[in-house]
Amino acid sequence: MTHIVFAASECTPFVKTGGLADVIGSLPQALREQTGHEISVILPLYDQMDEAYRSQLIPAGTLNVPVGWRSQGAALHKLVRDGITYYFVENEFYFGRHGAYGYFDDGERFVFFSRAVVEIIQGMEERPDILHAHDWQTGMAVAFANIMMPDLKSVFTIHNIQYQGWMTHEAFYDLMNVGPEHFPGMEWHGMINCMKAAIFHADKITTVSPSYAEEIKQPYYGEGLDPLLNERSIDLMGIVNGIDTADYDPMKDPNLYVPYRTSRAKKKENKRWLQRELCLPEDGDIPMYAAISRFVEQKGFHLLERILDEFLQENVQVVILGTGDYAFEQSFAHFAGKYPDKMVTLLKFSEATARQIYAAADFFLMPSKFEPCGLSQLISLQYKTIPIVRETGGLRDTVLPYDEITGEGNGFSFANYNAHELLYTMRYSLLIYSRPELLKPLLQNVNKSRFSWKDSAKLYDGMYKELLTL
Ligand code: ADP
Repeated sequence: MTHIVFAASECTPFVKTGGLADVIGSLPQALREQTGHEISVILPLYDQMDEAYRSQLIPAGTLNVPVGWRSQGAALHKLVRDGITYYFVENEFYFGRHGAYGYFDDGERFVFFSRAVVEIIQGMEERPDILHAHDWQTGMAVAFANIMMPDLKSVFTIHNIQYQGWMTHEAFYDLMNVGPEHFPGMEWHGMINCMKAAIFHADKITTVSPSYAEEIKQPYYGEGLDPLLNERSIDLMGIVNGIDTADYDPMKDPNLYVPYRTSRAKKKENKRWLQRELCLPEDGDIPMYAAISRFVEQKGFHLLERILDEFLQENVQVVILGTGDYAFEQSFAHFAGKYPDKMVTLLKFSEATARQIYAAADFFLMPSKFEPCGLSQLISLQYKTIPIVRETGGLRDTVLPYDEITGEGNGFSFANYNAHELLYTMRYSLLIYSRPELLKPLLQNVNKSRFSWKDSAKLYDGMYKELLTL
């Protein structure tokens, strides 16, 4: 049996800030079910972890983690859930804080965590076969593992190349505790770069959709790492994310007002409930457009804020849930104030509210500037909500634009990063909504869309097998 160790900075249901947590929370389970592999997941123990899970932790020893010339202590905890073993690294100084990220010393925090991952692997009774690390926070784990355990195979998955874990070059001497010959493998443009270190050291590199795997080899999407990714092109592949379809199931979701499978009437009841909750005019026939997201430039919100005034002249409702950049929060709050009968902006992170909105809305907006995979459009399809996306990365790979002639397609899309292309596409969606004979085939395709992990887990398994024969 192959033993794969995942290392990541977030994972549902323990702690979540975005799609990475969904992936780490569901891929190990899918791999275990499909392949029988043993999977362990190593995570930091954050302050915000739910008490319900914290109380299940079992002490699993202590660690001395070298961080440059220092040695930082850590307590290790264990929790077994649905056949997956989770290890939590506890260190009050680094992780006993509010939230997961956003601190001036994030670089040091995750170098510490990365080194702890390697210490845990070295302390395991039997050496695992593969280390599979995710995003920059665990990038240095790949580098340390390659340096300290050269026969351990490693995979690094890029979930978002925009966040790379940059530090000044002094960090190499201050934190890394490896010989000076390893500086070039960790350095990029005069800085220490955790993602570059992982791309340099990993045996295989994956990213979360085939389109994004191609895009990041180009300067527009590569965020400066494209030359390196071109060099490693042969070891780079894109595997589209799935979602946990048992968890995201409108038939079983306890947060919904009325459970449903494909019934539009029941979906409308959820819309009417949400309208009452949000003090919007209650009318099941008014098309509702939703966005649930981090408010960052990546998600295309510059386009949305540019056209909201025009779009809100139509007989529509817009519901936005999210937190992030202050300017977007203010702008969406402004439009909600200006159009109180048509738009609501909720500035919070709430899993329950998110699911209620996925269930209530008719259309889901995701006009991203770039999108490695995107899970929100998959969740919206699960909740029979039609996605409207820009054709980039994983959005291009999962949403096929509706063609009213052939009847194919499960959403709407536009090509250029242009506000009026978005407006035009939203207006086109309104037209289709008003024509039942055109809406019907589209909804049938939405109902048939499936994004379970099944196929993708097979692709990961194929890659692991190839890796172990190298
Ligand atoms: P990213 O990982 O770039 O943020 P994804 O589309 O891959 O984007 O995943 C976003 C995940 O986070 C989805 O599960 C989405 O429902 C959830 N999410 C985003 N913002 C919120 C919010 N304010 N409240 C609840 N869930 C949110």
